[in-house]
Amino acid sequence: MTSLRPVADHVAAVLAGAAPLPAVRLELTDAEGLVLAEDVTAAWPLPSFDNSSMDGYAVLVADVADAAVESPVTLPVRGDIAAGQSADDPLLAGTAIRIMTGAPVPPGADAVVPVEWTDGGTETVTITLAPDPGAHIRRAGEDVDTGSIVVTAGTVITARVVAMLAAVGRGSVLVHPRPRVTVISTGDELVDPGTDPGFGQIVDSNSYMLTAAAREAGATARRVGPVPDDDATLARVLAEEAARCDVILTSGGVSMGAYDTVKAVLSDLGGVEFVKVAMQPGMPQGCGTVDGTRIVTLPGNPVSSYVSFEVFVRPLIRRLLGHVDIDRPRVHAICTRAFPSPAHKTQFARVRLGTRDGLLVAEPEGGQGSHIIGGLSRANGLAIVPPETTEVQEGQELVVIDLLAAEGRSS
Ligand code: AMP
Ligand code: MG
Repeated sequence: MTSLRPVADHVAAVLAGAAPLPAVRLELTDAEGLVLAEDVTAAWPLPSFDNSSMDGYAVLVADVADAAVESPVTLPVRGDIAAGQSADDPLLAGTAIRIMTGAPVPPGADAVVPVEWTDGGTETVTITLAPDPGAHIRRAGEDVDTGSIVVTAGTVITARVVAMLAAVGRGSVLVHPRPRVTVISTGDELVDPGTDPGFGQIVDSNSYMLTAAAREAGATARRVGPVPDDDATLARVLAEEAARCDVILTSGGVSMGAYDTVKAVLSDLGGVEFVKVAMQPGMPQGCGTVDGTRIVTLPGNPVSSYVSFEVFVRPLIRRLLGHVDIDRPRVHAICTRAFPSPAHKTQFARVRLGTRDGLLVAEPEGGQGSHIIGGLSRANGLAIVPPETTEVQEGQELVVIDLLAAEGRSS
C-alpha cells in the first residue's frame, strides 16, 4: 500500500508544465466561452455622447422650474432628434426639442422631460412637472472612460463580457484556443454502438463518454476507436494522432493483465510513467508524452475512466484553455446513507446532490463498482472520501464535487 501515489501528486504530474495554449485572434462570435488573452481597453468613452434616457423633450430647467399640474408651462417645439441623428443646433432658451431615447442631447439643454409629463405636442408642448437639473440625461463617460481597461486578460468570455467587448468596438479578440483532444479506446472486446455485441463483446462506451466530457470541459475532441489490443496497430495510431492534437487520452490497457497494450506500447516508447494512485475507482494511471504530445492513459472500467477524467484531465484541459479556476466547485452535503470506503485510498463516491428540508444532501448511488454505468449516469456529484475514512456515516458532512457546475467564482 505504501507505493500508492496520493491523488494530489498525480494531479500535479498530469498538470506538470501545462500552460495556456498560445493566443489566437478570433471573431467575437467565435470567442464565447473562451478565456481572453489580452487586456481590452476602451478606445472611446461609454456612453460616447450625452444622450437621452427617455422619449421626451430637451429643455432648460430654468424655463420649466415652475411647471406643475395646476400651473403647466407651454413651450414651442423646435424640431425632433431621433437616435442616430446628430444634435448640432443648440437649444434656444424658451423652447423645447422633442428627443427620443438614445438620441444626443442638444447643446444648451440641461434636462429631458419625459413625454409622460407632457401633452406630447409636436408644435408646442405643455409640461406639468419640473425636472431636476440633468434629469434623464446619460452623461458621456459615466460608464467607461476612454483608455480604461474594460476586460482583463484571464476573463471568461460570457454573454455579459461579449456585450462589453462589442460596446467598445472589438470585433475580434485574442483568446486561448480550445485544446484538441484525441480519445483512443483500446480493447479486443469492444464494438461500436449500433453493432450488436456478440458473446464476450461489449459496446465501447468510454470513447463516447470521454469525447463528450472533453467537449464539456471546453476542448475540441476527436474520437478514435476502438483500437484492438495489438501493439503495432496501437503504436501506429498513437503516432498518427500525436501529430495532430494537444492531448491524447487512452482508455483501457493500463492494468496488470496480459493484454494491457497501452502500457506495453508506451513502456517501450518511454516518456510515460505508469503508476498506481491511492484512489477508488481508478487506481492504474499513466501520464507523460508520446512524440512530444501530452498523453493521459485512463483505466478501462467506465466509472474509473470517468472519475479519472474528472480528477486529472478536466483540470488539464482548463489549464490549457487559460482558466484561472481549473477545478469544479465543491459543496458540503449531508450523507443520507452509510457506506464503506477503502482504507488508504481516496474514494470518489457517486452521489446525487439534492435538498431535503432546506439542507444540501448527498444520496449515494446504488452500486459503487467501477463497472456500474447506471449509478454513474444518475450521479451529479462525486463525494471525496479521504483515505483515513473507512466508513461514511449517515448524517456525516461530505465534500462533494458538483458535476453540474462548470467553474468556481475566481475566474
Ligand atoms: P482494461 O483496463 O482494458 O483491462 O479494461 C477494464 C474493463 O473495462 C474491462 O471490463 C473492459 O471490458 C472495460 N472497458 C475497457 N474499455 C472500455 C470501453 N472503451 N468502454 C467500455 N468498457 C471498457
Ligand atoms: Mg483492455
